[in-house]
Amino acid sequence: MTMIPDDDSLFCYSEAGKIASVILKKGSSLIEIGNRVLEIVESIEQMVEEQGCGLAFPLNLSFNEDAAHDTASADEQRVFLEGDVVKLDLGVHLEGYIADTAVTIDLGDNALLIEASKAALTKAIEIVRPGVTSGDLGRAIQHEIQVRGYHPVSNLTGHGLARYSIHTPPSIPNISFQGGVVLEEGMVFAIEPFASTGSGRVSEKNRIEIFQQTAVKPVRLPSARKLLESVRNRHGMPFARRWITDGKQDIALASLISQGIVRSYPVLSDVPGSLVSQHEHTVIVTSDGCIVTTA
Ligand code: MN
Ligand code: MN
Repeated sequence: MTMIPDDDSLFCYSEAGKIASVILKKGSSLIEIGNRVLEIVESIEQMVEEQGCGLAFPLNLSFNEDAAHDTASADEQRVFLEGDVVKLDLGVHLEGYIADTAVTIDLGDNALLIEASKAALTKAIEIVRPGVTSGDLGRAIQHEIQVRGYHPVSNLTGHGLARYSIHTPPSIPNISFQGGVVLEEGMVFAIEPFASTGSGRVSEKNRIEIFQQTAVKPVRLPSARKLLESVRNRHGMPFARRWITDGKQDIALASLISQGIVRSYPVLSDVPGSLVSQHEHTVIVTSDGCIVTTA
């Protein structure tokens, strides 16, 4: 039996959602051909702080065949180019209650691809209510994407949200699924369809800019100890390499990863030359439907 969020946590979910929605719109308008990626990422992340909220994860900005988990590096040189399909994925939290939302900005001529993930998200949200299964949502998502001639990304999913935790059950598939989780009133989760011109499967690239502490253990290496100290305020939520200004962060990260204390999030990509679009909202299941906190 799912716990129905109490009034305080509902308030935080809803406030975080409203703020995320406003910042995502403002942020989208900054993604223009010729603008510098690092500047835009930093300015959007700053908007979250200015609203008195925290980032649930580094601002994800993923290009073209990259579906997720890219963000600017400290020495980022990229600028937005004509033709780019840019996924802007923002996580805002208030007191640990998370709003996770994403849009795709088309700097080329890919309106139907963008529409595919957007329509899939709209349709999935329409059918959310207690008793529906996660597999039902997956079927609706797959259908909306395939009728437009694209592939849903089958190995990326939506996910439950809990306090300070971005990936909890249930997972919400982007393809039809037998069974799955039966949705219950009070569940909080993100739905995030991805539509692709490629294979519909992502794999890990070598590029890694996002990390997360997953265990607490004693460490000896001073730079590693310092890094853990500097991410303690993350409450276990992911952080960007860019945020660590120690100079020895790469050695520290390698050591912490090998000790099983930190995990990495490599950029996830479909095949080279393909294009992927994504849309995402966070919802709370009610007795007869859902509230979209990030609407
Ligand atoms: Mn997201
Ligand atoms: Mn998500």
